[in-house]
Amino acid sequence: MAQILNGNLVRDQIKAECRPRVTRFIAKAGRAPGLAVVLVGDNSASAVYVRNKTKTAEEVGLHHETITRDASLTTEGLLAIIAELNARGDIDGILIQLPLPAHIDSQKALLSVAPEKDVDGFHPYNVGLLSTGRPGLRPCTPSGVIEILKRYEIPIAGRNAVVVGRSDIVGKPMAMLLLQENATVTICHSRTRDLPAMCRAAEILVAAIGRTAMITTDYIQPGAVVIDVGMNTVRTREEAERVFDAAKLADFDKRGSLLVGDVHPGDMARVASAYTPVPGGVGPLTIALLMRNTIEAAERRVGL
Ligand code: NDP
Repeated sequence: MAQILNGNLVRDQIKAECRPRVTRFIAKAGRAPGLAVVLVGDNSASAVYVRNKTKTAEEVGLHHETITRDASLTTEGLLAIIAELNARGDIDGILIQLPLPAHIDSQKALLSVAPEKDVDGFHPYNVGLLSTGRPGLRPCTPSGVIEILKRYEIPIAGRNAVVVGRSDIVGKPMAMLLLQENATVTICHSRTRDLPAMCRAAEILVAAIGRTAMITTDYIQPGAVVIDVGMNTVRTREEAERVFDAAKLADFDKRGSLLVGDVHPGDMARVASAYTPVPGGVGPLTIALLMRNTIEAAERRVGL
């Protein structure tokens, strides 16, 4: 039986570790660490993500603010908001919720966030710190993957790790973090030749692709540890039949849609030695790591 790597459990541990750090910070600084989230436009999924982030911030005792603007905001308008947040002493972390409306220059906006407040870890300065192995703010989702591996005592050093996906948000930083943990890392993408064979060489396989249950038995070395970062929604019965067992299919019929990762859930459970389920694997960790990054940013700013 494959071991299920429970992200909810690890999330709760990280949140529990955050609380005493917040208390210690308040004792030193006379205020709670502060997180500002900027939400532009009316993307309903983004609004849900932001609500979840602020709810968790509340739970761990952070000061939080959500700055909401409608889609007519200009790039200059957003830059002015960011400049104000950069200058504020009581704000330690700034998060620009993506995607931004198409007319806004996202790169310019992300570059304008002060690197020491860049709790998403997307600023090139922090990317540089990561790639040169210096301390800094790390992207939350890949950091969550490292946390789950470590807390389940899955060895990383010396093992063959394959990351499928090379985005700036997940794939690339994931590969850098695994390298820092001394794995032998291969990065695959849409132009990789013979992807199944590349993946079968992995003792640790991380899928961050955005393709519904694309990774099947053919891609998984028996006994590999499989980390499924993907979050996709199955909406058609045909796709549901390919992806789900009878129990899940009944659930699908009731709900009309279901979340699934980039790895076929049945194949993963059959072939892997350990895996992160979707939902309940990597997903819950991202927000917990955002909280930890905010506290870390705050501690650095006051010299704790
Ligand atoms: P992107 O779309 O930015 O990147 C996808 C990557 O997958 C690209 O590098 C792309 O290659 C590669 N890819 C696409 N199709 C194939 C294919 N057929 N074969 C091999 N490689 C392929 O996605 P993200 O990195 O932002 O996200 C990846 C997944 O992770 C998504 O499902 C997303 O929803 C999920 N996610 C989950 C989070 C969480 O908290 N759990 C947080 C962030 C993302 P190329 O570069 O060549 O185009």
